[in-house]
Amino acid sequence: MAHYDDAERNGTAGRFAPSPSGDLHIGNLRTAVLAQLFAGASDRRFLMRVEDLDRVRDGAEERQLADLAAIGIRWEEPLVRQSERRGGYSAVVDSLVAAGATFECFCTRREILEAPSAPHAPHGAYPGTCRDLTAAQRDERRSTRPAAIRLRSEVASFPVHDALHGEFTGDVDDFVLVRNDGTPAYNLAVVVDDAAMGVDQVTRGDDLLTSAPRQAYLATVLGHRPPEYVHVPMVLNRDGVRLAKRDGAVTAADLAEHGVDARAVLSLIAVSLDLAREGESVTMDRLADRFDPSALPREPWIFVPPASPTRSSQNSGAANE
Ligand code: GLU
Repeated sequence: MAHYDDAERNGTAGRFAPSPSGDLHIGNLRTAVLAQLFAGASDRRFLMRVEDLDRVRDGAEERQLADLAAIGIRWEEPLVRQSERRGGYSAVVDSLVAAGATFECFCTRREILEAPSAPHAPHGAYPGTCRDLTAAQRDERRSTRPAAIRLRSEVASFPVHDALHGEFTGDVDDFVLVRNDGTPAYNLAVVVDDAAMGVDQVTRGDDLLTSAPRQAYLATVLGHRPPEYVHVPMVLNRDGVRLAKRDGAVTAADLAEHGVDARAVLSLIAVSLDLAREGESVTMDRLADRFDPSALPREPWIFVPPASPTRSSQNSGAANE
């Protein structure tokens, strides 16, 4: 039977978990607003976790946290950084290895793509190449390349509950827990951290909906109750493609240069959520009062960045500084 630890019994919390690989864009800020609103609407605490195990860009964490604070996002201390929790991940991996719930994998990405997949295996699933290697085969492969550690998954799919998507069942394969350079994988870290932080509500972009079954399954393997998920619609550009930095002025810093300050950014987000009138100045408290999870617009928000300033408006901008 599953056991639940004290953090889980005592904790009910939501969280936002940015990766400091660059600046947040308005879509990421909108997801953060929703994460705080969903947590608040269900009387949960709200926590912040910096997912800095890889692809960290200098100064990005500070800028992300400053941008979040500027639009009124407030989180409880302590701030959690994954780079400071490596010992926790190793301990969990050691326990899974000791329980025989993992295997070493020596496959390259290319070998996985080219391997014939097992019959009935979900498309793109790990084909099982290294699952049943003998000790001798493992020894031989260890001398050629370092191993990743994969979960020896006992299911092919797993259901999760999502506040916006309802019951969602998705593929679970023998996914990577530790990469072959020793870095804990995202799917491992997120599950270990959410459980340790008492997070029982995960609000994030719906590009991660298909990762939720793997994470929820791993949570149950580790004896944790999977969280409630809230996968919110992404923000798209005018071509209907997920908003990205190359779409123009999409970060708080870029928008500020176009005269759209933090207050105006929150207002734009609020309008997109049907929580404010066009141009209305709002605060997070005001939005929390108005927020009704069941009335959230379900379609993606199309964000058209302000046009690049012309030379003359650039000049007048400089004159105002
Ligand atoms: N760090 C991930 C991201 O920025 C989000 C992970 C999560 O919320 O589970 O895309």
